[in-house]
Amino acid sequence: MNSVFKNWKDGAILLTDAGWGDSGKGKCVSALKAEIGAKIIGGHNAGHTIVTDKGEFGLGLIPSTIINKDSFNLIGQEVVINPLFLINEISGLKKLGIAVSPKNLMIDARSHVVMKWHEVRDALSEEARGKGAIGSLHLGVGWTYSDRVNRRGLRLEDILAPDWKKRVRTELKNQIGVIEDMVREVKRKTGVKSKVEKDLNEREIIKDMAYARKFLSPFVGNTIDFAWKALDKNKKIVFEDSHGAMLEVSHGSWPFTTGVNTSVGALHRSFGGKAVRSLKKIIVSVKAYQTRVGGGPLPTENFGHFGNYVRKRGSEVGTRSGRARRCGPFDAPAIRYGLNIVGAGQNDEIALTKLDVLSGLNKIPVCVAYKHQRKIYAIPPRMDAQFLIKVRPQYEYLPGWKEDISGIRKFESLPKGAKKYILFIQKLLGRKITLVGVGKHQGATILPRVT
Ligand code: GDP
Repeated sequence: MNSVFKNWKDGAILLTDAGWGDSGKGKCVSALKAEIGAKIIGGHNAGHTIVTDKGEFGLGLIPSTIINKDSFNLIGQEVVINPLFLINEISGLKKLGIAVSPKNLMIDARSHVVMKWHEVRDALSEEARGKGAIGSLHLGVGWTYSDRVNRRGLRLEDILAPDWKKRVRTELKNQIGVIEDMVREVKRKTGVKSKVEKDLNEREIIKDMAYARKFLSPFVGNTIDFAWKALDKNKKIVFEDSHGAMLEVSHGSWPFTTGVNTSVGALHRSFGGKAVRSLKKIIVSVKAYQTRVGGGPLPTENFGHFGNYVRKRGSEVGTRSGRARRCGPFDAPAIRYGLNIVGAGQNDEIALTKLDVLSGLNKIPVCVAYKHQRKIYAIPPRMDAQFLIKVRPQYEYLPGWKEDISGIRKFESLPKGAKKYILFIQKLLGRKITLVGVGKHQGATILPRVT
């Protein structure tokens, strides 16, 4: 088998995640020498972290390929844009010595804009939930997607239009109406008056958007047309996913999901069926253990030594929320299901990340199947929360290894336990592992020989 990490000559690739996200997609994308990198979904709530010799880069809306100086970068139409956040991200990268200009970054004109009123709606919907609040960060991303599917809200091209002020003012009026309804709902549901700060100052919003349109307009273009032409020329494009299959709205652990699709579904939303049908490979980033942010079932969640150990060694703390991630052993049934969601076949590839985090454990549990009402499932029939809360993970225990593996670059040089672990996961998933992550640094990877 010809791994794209070693030998990628041409064609399009999708880099996605079969679990609950946060698997290290950023590092995997930057390990590919792409001519074009395209972000396909998500907002500034989902980001990547990449560590290079120059330092640590936290990316929110810009594809991870930005750190490779020869790649061109696209932000697809299905990514929702908080303009001030994006401006900060561009300026921050430039300060760190990364070139960002219209020569290497294009944002789609049809992307929806995350506005202050979306943050207010986020805060109000949490307030209305009372004790059942889900701990949203009030970034407004979900409500922006909600506007998009309801065919309202502003797209970047509205902000660039000659009559942009009128469009922003009209939308502000609409949104004030929506917010007034939500305030009434808070009172009705909780019995107390809303305490959310609802000050949507028109002058301030216009001022921010005047700055945003001036700064961003040179970057705005037609990414679909750009990508389709590049696909026709068989260019090396990597489409970069956000989140993970378990968090996708249609197939994930409903209702504890994001509001969007991932993988090929997300790719279709940003770049259409042509991009989906052009894919040469799907690369699935899979963490060597499981984590999850926020509520909802995590079948292998471990509250004992294993969970605490990997949380600490893997720095499993939410980048934006600062909340500790929930941790547990590798969950093969969930990831097998996830591989079907993302559409990864026998010829596609797995990047197994963060293996170094498991160093130092005596024994490593791996969930190989679920038990549900006396039946054993290697691959579950469904993954929604009502099914997941009733499953009992079935474990096998593998021997651990003592050595720090972060300096190792060859599969053959790994300790016996680590090699065994990689081959065991490969067998469980039925797909080749072509990259193993052994440390935070961009270069801390092993590319096992695959046949
Ligand atoms: P994403 O949500 O899948 O894009 O995850 P990120 O790209 O943000 O990666 C999550 C974290 O894992 C970041 O802090 C990375 O630096 C870190 N990371 C990625 N790969 C590895 C690895 O192989 N080992 C270790 N220890 N950390 C890694």
